[in-house]
Amino acid sequence: RVIDLPDSIQELEVIAKKIRELAKEGENLSRIGIAFSSPSNYRPHLDRIFTEYNIPYRRKTPMSLISGPLIKELVGVLTILAGDFDDQDFLALASAEFLSLDCTSLLDKLNHILGEVRFEANGWSLVRLIEDKVRVIEDDELLGIIDFIKKNLKWNLGKKVTFKAFISKFIGLLNKFELADKLDEFEDGSEVMAVWNEFKNITAKLNKIADEKRTLKDWIKLLKLAIREANYTFDQGQGVEITGKIELRSGDYDYIFLAGMSHDLYPTASHNPLDRYFKELGMELTDDQVLDRYLFVDHLLGAKKGTFITYSKSASEEQALASSCIEELKRVVTLKKTEVEENLYSINELQQSLGLKLKAGKEYTDYTQGDDYHWQEDLLTKFRLLKERNRDEFAVYNGKLEEESNLNWLEEKFDDDYVYSADLLGSYANCPFRFLFEKVFKLSSFDLSEEILPFERGRFLHKIMEKFYSKFSAGKVTEDNQEEAAQVLLTATQEVLAEYPLFKESFYWQTEGNRYLQDDDLGVGLEKILAFERDSTIKSNKKTNHFTVREVEWEFDGLELIDDYKFRGRIDRINYHEEGWLGVIDYKTGSINNPVQIPLYIMAAKEEFEEDIVHGGYYILDPGKGLDYKKVKVTNEMYKSSTKATDRFNESLEEAKKNIKEYITNIKAGNFKLGDGDNGCSYCQCKFICRKEEA
Ligand code: SF4
Repeated sequence: RVIDLPDSIQELEVIAKKIRELAKEGENLSRIGIAFSSPSNYRPHLDRIFTEYNIPYRRKTPMSLISGPLIKELVGVLTILAGDFDDQDFLALASAEFLSLDCTSLLDKLNHILGEVRFEANGWSLVRLIEDKVRVIEDDELLGIIDFIKKNLKWNLGKKVTFKAFISKFIGLLNKFELADKLDEFEDGSEVMAVWNEFKNITAKLNKIADEKRTLKDWIKLLKLAIREANYTFDQGQGVEITGKIELRSGDYDYIFLAGMSHDLYPTASHNPLDRYFKELGMELTDDQVLDRYLFVDHLLGAKKGTFITYSKSASEEQALASSCIEELKRVVTLKKTEVEENLYSINELQQSLGLKLKAGKEYTDYTQGDDYHWQEDLLTKFRLLKERNRDEFAVYNGKLEEESNLNWLEEKFDDDYVYSADLLGSYANCPFRFLFEKVFKLSSFDLSEEILPFERGRFLHKIMEKFYSKFSAGKVTEDNQEEAAQVLLTATQEVLAEYPLFKESFYWQTEGNRYLQDDDLGVGLEKILAFERDSTIKSNKKTNHFTVREVEWEFDGLELIDDYKFRGRIDRINYHEEGWLGVIDYKTGSINNPVQIPLYIMAAKEEFEEDIVHGGYYILDPGKGLDYKKVKVTNEMYKSSTKATDRFNESLEEAKKNIKEYITNIKAGNFKLGDGDNGCSYCQCKFICRKEEA
């Protein structure tokens, strides 16, 4: 179906309306894809229009890498390394968010000093002038920082090295700014990590093609150029999928919208006169026109239920003209014109429509009569309900239980002998309202799908790991003992799987089982785990450390860790290092979103073991997702790798104690408001009763 429109904004509006129509018919939004031939015309309006029509979307539009978070700071460092920087570049480094110079008052002082440097100076002469001023005021902290900058950022630019050597020197420098620690605070799916991964991609690509030696100056220039030309994509969430170019994967969608199919797109294939010279020179070039057309046809056929094509007129045209490929299409298929229902789908449309009618002298009452205006009636009903629920009798709850008998009941349930678990407190931390339903009222549905759920996978892997380490007395897989370890892991796995007959009887479970066992050998998934166990190290004391496994599934129950409150839990694993320290580890196969678990486990281990606890974190135990010791948020992985990190570690513990006390007080006081932000709302069983959107 095709539609021509006056401009790109109306194209977007029509697409939004059409999607609302499809949603009304029950179509799944995540099975709808939109590809923009030239995203820059649409991007400025996309968010506004889709928000107006209340359409959730995932954006895969490529954005210029340089506009992403973090990258400006990396380019700033490259500019300083190249020696050609001014006071603004220097100030930008001082105020960098990701690259810590660890001096909060630095910016003010520098600003002041730069104000005193009255003539223009660039590069290292500027730094010399700043340094002279700092010596006069005898500010040791600032002198230390200038020393750090000079020592680490003043490179011998003429030195010839390979790209690989250059990039490892650059990364080494970034680590001196504690970038790795900073990145640990971001989730894998965050925009910062998307940008960082793209940066790593660029360096990996350059590494492959640049094997000659060049000066450091040349490499800095090349890397800056490569960053400027690169794009990154960032998947924001759920809903309709939007891509920048025609690059939706065929078969993934029920409906595909191809926007911007105007006449300048995919012109009739033409020949470049230079082509034959390239041929004679033996050069084979990819023909972008052919490739684009191929993708276009692929998309036309890719949607299972329908494809919508839209185009609009450009500024110089009197009317919208379709791409010639659409004209060509007409010869072989019947294209229908897209009809858009005249329903009102947004408040803006309603206002516009009311305005027009009023202007024409019609009365507002028009909208409340007749069968055609259900949407408006619904809206009025909604207004009335919203208004009414603000009346006293509807507004009692608001996240707070106040009835005396309820409060007494809570007091009794959470009395002095109650033993709190990390799971319970984490649930309250994420969303008190959900906590009330799931943990207090214990209302939840039981999923009986045959497919394996992440928590079920977690159970098997936990059991396998527990059995493995309780049988494997060495406590650490090494090059020397890996064969023996593999044998022990095989036996442990066979024993665990034998407890679950479904592994033999169900297709899904057999497939899962094959990741653990292949005939009489370890499956690929467990081989990966074994290799990870052999190679993994843990961060502490400024270096990565090997360790042995000291305890598995270590339980505590009734420990008074904070005031007189009692706590229980089970630590999946406690690692030991011969220097006399311990690290607590929790295995995870699903998402990580419990801000109190690791601090609570550290407190418990501190209570029971003599050794210093220097590390706490998660071990991602899903061979499908990649194994890793995960540092997610500051409170989720904690380690004492330096004085600063130790301070952070202790602060996090104190903060967690304070929060836990607050959670318990609030639970007993009947405070069950909605959680801030999105803590798994899309999978929450309470989402239809919490009315978060309205709140
Ligand atoms: S949908 Fe979100 S806000 Fe509502 S109860 Fe669930 S987790 Fe809380």
